[in-house]
Amino acid sequence: MAYDVIILGGGANGAGAARDCALRGLRVLLLEKADFGVGASGNSSGMIHGGIRYMLSDRKVTELACRDSGYIQKIAPHLLFRIPFLIPFASRKEGATLRDRAEWYGTEVYVGTYDLYQPLKRGKPSTRLSAEELYALEPGLRPGLHGAVTLDEWGIDAFRLCALNALDARAHGADVRTWTEAREILREGGRVRGVRFRDALTGEEGEALAPAVFNATGAWSPALGRRSGVPVPMRPGKGVHLTLDRRWSNYGIIGAAVDGRQIFVMPHENESIIGTTDDDYYGDPDDLEATNDEVEYLLEGAASLVPGVRRARITRAWCGLRTTIHAYGPNEDALSREHQLLDGAPHGAAGLLSLVGGKLASYRAQAEEATDRILALLGRPPVPCRTHLEPLPGGDEVPDPAALAAEWPVAAPVAARLVYRHGSRAREILRLLEDDPRLGLVLCRDEAILAAEVVHCARHELVRRLQDLRRRCRVGLGACAGVDCARISAQLAGRELGWDAGRIRAELADLLDQGWRERRAIADGAQLAQEELVRGATGLLEVPW
Ligand SMILES: Cc1cc2nc3c(=O)[nH]c(=O)nc-3n(C[C@H](O)[C@H](O)[C@H](O)COP(=O)(O)OP(=O)(O)OC[C@H]3O[C@@H](n4cnc5c(N)ncnc54)[C@H](O)[C@@H]3O)c2cc1C
Repeated sequence: MAYDVIILGGGANGAGAARDCALRGLRVLLLEKADFGVGASGNSSGMIHGGIRYMLSDRKVTELACRDSGYIQKIAPHLLFRIPFLIPFASRKEGATLRDRAEWYGTEVYVGTYDLYQPLKRGKPSTRLSAEELYALEPGLRPGLHGAVTLDEWGIDAFRLCALNALDARAHGADVRTWTEAREILREGGRVRGVRFRDALTGEEGEALAPAVFNATGAWSPALGRRSGVPVPMRPGKGVHLTLDRRWSNYGIIGAAVDGRQIFVMPHENESIIGTTDDDYYGDPDDLEATNDEVEYLLEGAASLVPGVRRARITRAWCGLRTTIHAYGPNEDALSREHQLLDGAPHGAAGLLSLVGGKLASYRAQAEEATDRILALLGRPPVPCRTHLEPLPGGDEVPDPAALAAEWPVAAPVAARLVYRHGSRAREILRLLEDDPRLGLVLCRDEAILAAEVVHCARHELVRRLQDLRRRCRVGLGACAGVDCARISAQLAGRELGWDAGRIRAELADLLDQGWRERRAIADGAQLAQEELVRGATGLLEVPW
């Protein structure tokens, strides 16, 4: 089939652009080599923030991200949650020196300037806390702090953000294929004419044709560009996060690692995460894994703020690659977070646009800019963008969880998680219980996953592999690493998707392997015992008797 535009990559930018192009009436094909959000988007810190860090060097980035954060809150109100941050004031020695006080004053002025952007994203203004107030809010902080200044930000389930954009693109006529890789961008007479693709699950290979191609393959872009003869300069930066088994603080806490770089501990959904590193990465993006050193670097920095985290059980160490614009010289954390749309025309590929840089928080604006450019490349008249006005699927209304729990046989916290992930579509999911009350079973105690939710996602959310359910409804992501939910989810998904027993077993092994890749760097004696438990409980451990 011929399209107007082929979009490569189902991260926030690719999925966002697919939605925008489809809403503006273009015939769209979206290809994702694995599943939505598997790249930087789903492995980011998951903050729809304003990027206060970039205010000095990239004020435009801060403003764009704050403005877009405001729009994303409107189109997906169910999926965002507030994360208030504390920036504690520490002194170099016992008793504050003049230099300490100057630094604290500087921080207050800096955060005060950020307050000017807060109304764009419904952020509360900053405030100063005395030591007493600080310890009343966060008693687990290390002793001897002198107070803090606050900062208001927003978090999101970035996997679902990507999936919802892609699903909405499909609802508006786009063809969306996951587990389908663009192997090469095809050219003829100085123009792109389409892509050669391969479906990893069926082995199907083919060509899809279009006069415009939007390359949003993130850290994979330079390699795809090389294969297709169109350079995409980038300086990918690896960022590692740790997930702790529960919320270790009620507030995000910003501090410094041993090398002075900024790190944070923050509550994110039901857990806490520690992040993040920022190091140049020259390897294959498919081989990305956290190392013991990176885990220790983050833990050391976090423990200098919240000593108790040393006692926490780390459940995952996960990483992504920043798609940063190339620059020779600056340290990784000083690189610009601006975005660029690179035109393929000077390299004999007119019609090709490649995106580098940018932020998750401004994905919608980046997608809007890309769509404007795509319309121009196609010689079409401008069509107004509507992605800041039209809600994402489920974003039209946020039902009251207590009312749902009164109407259906589910506990209020389960209804709350369902509403968080699915917004108004929570009702559709609960209606499945009318035909089969067994679907009211809660599969995971950490994540409150309903059997009905797994069935709904398998039916309606472009699930092709069991591991896709990690990203749709957090199967296998909780602190028990799937002991509760993996096996039964595999059975339910298998029933929906027509898998035989062998396929169900293979999918289960693959899901658990995804988890193992995120635990390898944190495994010690106790964690290895937990690992055996996970495999034993899911029936994948070969027992020799
Ligand atoms: C550690 C870390 C923390 C971050 N934290 C934040 C944050 O809190 N807030 C914020 O605003 N930004 C944050 N960012 C930046 C943000 O995540 C990125 O700017 C954004 O997610 C990039 O999205 P993308 O769609 O361009 O790329 P990606 O999300 O990487 O998507 C690229 C996709 O392309 C697919 N793909 C690759 N090759 C092919 C191919 N040949 N054919 C088809 N598909 C292909 C991949 O599988 C992948 O899904 C963070 C980034 C990192 C790494």
